[in-house]
Amino acid sequence: MEIKNNRLVDAPFVAANAYNKTAVMKPDAIIIHYTAGASGNATVKLFSAKTATTSAHFVVSEDGSITQMVDLNRKAYHAGTSSYNGRSSYNSFSIGIEISNPGYLQKIDGKYYTWWEAKKEKKTPVAASNVFVGKHRNAVTTMTYWYKYTDAQIKAVTELCKAICRAYEIKEILGHEEIAPGRKCDPGPAFPLDALRADVMATAAPNLSINDMFKKAIKDSAATSMVIGRVKVKLNFRQSPSTTAALKSSPIAADSYIYIIGQDSTGEWYNILHEISGWIDKEYIEQDNTDSDYDGELTSDSAMLYNDQKKSRRLVSDLKAGTKFNILEQQENMFRIKAVVEGWACAKYISKV
Ligand SMILES: [Zn+2]
Repeated sequence: MEIKNNRLVDAPFVAANAYNKTAVMKPDAIIIHYTAGASGNATVKLFSAKTATTSAHFVVSEDGSITQMVDLNRKAYHAGTSSYNGRSSYNSFSIGIEISNPGYLQKIDGKYYTWWEAKKEKKTPVAASNVFVGKHRNAVTTMTYWYKYTDAQIKAVTELCKAICRAYEIKEILGHEEIAPGRKCDPGPAFPLDALRADVMATAAPNLSINDMFKKAIKDSAATSMVIGRVKVKLNFRQSPSTTAALKSSPIAADSYIYIIGQDSTGEWYNILHEISGWIDKEYIEQDNTDSDYDGELTSDSAMLYNDQKKSRRLVSDLKAGTKFNILEQQENMFRIKAVVEGWACAKYISKV
């Protein structure tokens, strides 16, 4: 899955009726919900109705299919009164994922019913194979019978969260039950929320931090999307997509994280961003003494980055004007810096994470 321009690529989009149509939002959290409804289609219909006052960015149906209803840079109305760990009003900065699921079940005379069937005179019970028995994480929530999520839904939500984390700097994935305990109990114990967090946050947030240097490099590269990749072996980093092209720097160490920003027409090479370090002549750089994440910028049109400041040095990379970097060490005429540069690497040795 891939997010581009605040939309999930290739997913149907059905506009919700209620969302903030004027302000732009920068999402940094994901909130997981269940719909407490009978089907994904019914929820899509409900949110798109002219009378609807609630909404979510995504609805995940029983078969794992995903419908988007609000652009990801717009505030949807899914969280309501909410707070967690000192932050409140989660609608303002979170992406809401509604999973179609009837929610908690009521046990009557040994049979289990959805909340709407329980109200009817002639009730249809839930198949025993769909009943999940489990205590809720919030002590205040005493229900113990829940409707099972399908494997397709769990897989779809996991992949969707990973795609969202690649597109935005997501800090937390929470259940509605965690930001509104007592008032809300979704997604409930039938949903593997802790496993989802461990899976998604561990792979989506490698040691690499999306700092200013990377952001600038991504912007300069005109990449329309980027994916985090992990280098499987010690890998050559080249100027162009060819095994005979000049090396860009020393090989990239195995297990390093890089950003994939494109690929060549054969699909055999990835255009990547990689962090490198080396020595540069002092006269080409301008120090930045402000409080930013980098402390220098290349002011000349281009400059060479070397592995050493000694005469026997060899070229590590050529830097372009505007490249930002961190200064690691200073000598009289040369500075050792760390910068993010663009180059090419063989795709088969890189796994997307
Ligand atoms: Zn909810």
